[in-house]
Amino acid sequence: MPDLATVVAEIAAEMAAREDRGTVATYIPELGRVDPDQFAIAVALADGSVVEGGACETFFSIQSVSKVFTLTLALGLAGDRLWNRVGREPSGSRFNSIVQLEQERGIPRNPFINAGAIAVTDTILSGHQPKEALGEILRFLQFVANDDAVFIDRQVAASEERTGFNNRALANFMKGFGVLDHPVEHVLGVYFHHCAIAMTARQLARAGSFLAHQGRNPATGHRVVTAERARRINAVMLTCGHYDGSGEFAYRVGLPGKSGVGGAILAIVPGKASVAVWSPGLDASGNSHLGRIALERLTARMGWSVFGAS
Ligand code: GLU
Repeated sequence: MPDLATVVAEIAAEMAAREDRGTVATYIPELGRVDPDQFAIAVALADGSVVEGGACETFFSIQSVSKVFTLTLALGLAGDRLWNRVGREPSGSRFNSIVQLEQERGIPRNPFINAGAIAVTDTILSGHQPKEALGEILRFLQFVANDDAVFIDRQVAASEERTGFNNRALANFMKGFGVLDHPVEHVLGVYFHHCAIAMTARQLARAGSFLAHQGRNPATGHRVVTAERARRINAVMLTCGHYDGSGEFAYRVGLPGKSGVGGAILAIVPGKASVAVWSPGLDASGNSHLGRIALERLTARMGWSVFGAS
């Protein structure tokens, strides 16, 4: 087995040297200003240590990676009833597609496309004012990362609030079908702000650790969810975590993972590690270009694919 620290250092060096860096998302203007020449990889292990390469202390917008944590919270609140309002099948469509919503009476295919995450956010709002719900989400991220420095980037949230026409369309459409309980603007306000949570690769890797270790964060000893729930969240990440690029990600990387348009990917190696990679340039499916390549290298070198070593 190769030495993990050596592998991570080699991956970071290769990614720094590559010229193909993908294209940063510009539909949220604030994200369009991020320097594409950045890369970070952090691997949180069972003993609580983190092996790092690149800019692991730089904060970035986690965007849709937040959907893993809002799903976890909503399952805690609603249990399996959550699955009455959101499915768990891959969509095969772009992250913000509205097409299936009409065919499936406003029920989103899965919690990781925008429509599904908006329905999940509506569940978290139950019995709460938007500010309280958002506070709960932020505190949960700080708790699992074991770091109070995790914060909401208000400028990114405002930028998305100004330009989120597509998400407004999705939410209104679902509201029309009676799938959302709360006012559309409340749900979207919380959604835009949780997408705008800013973290470092080190924090994100730690935050995902409970998913790698049967629901328990090995660094703190805290049980976050049951082992069964962790296994099921990993299953949804594997099948639905990369939009219409989920099959390709499973084929190349072979891990449960969730990407965001800020260029982050959280990937889980069950029983071994939680890995955060970040590079802002995206591929055609809206997933981090170098992030995916870095994970492909890591799983191949370490024999970490859930489908077996090669
Ligand atoms: N906040 C983004 C949106 O709703 C998230 C998309 C993503 O990260 O894929 O469009």
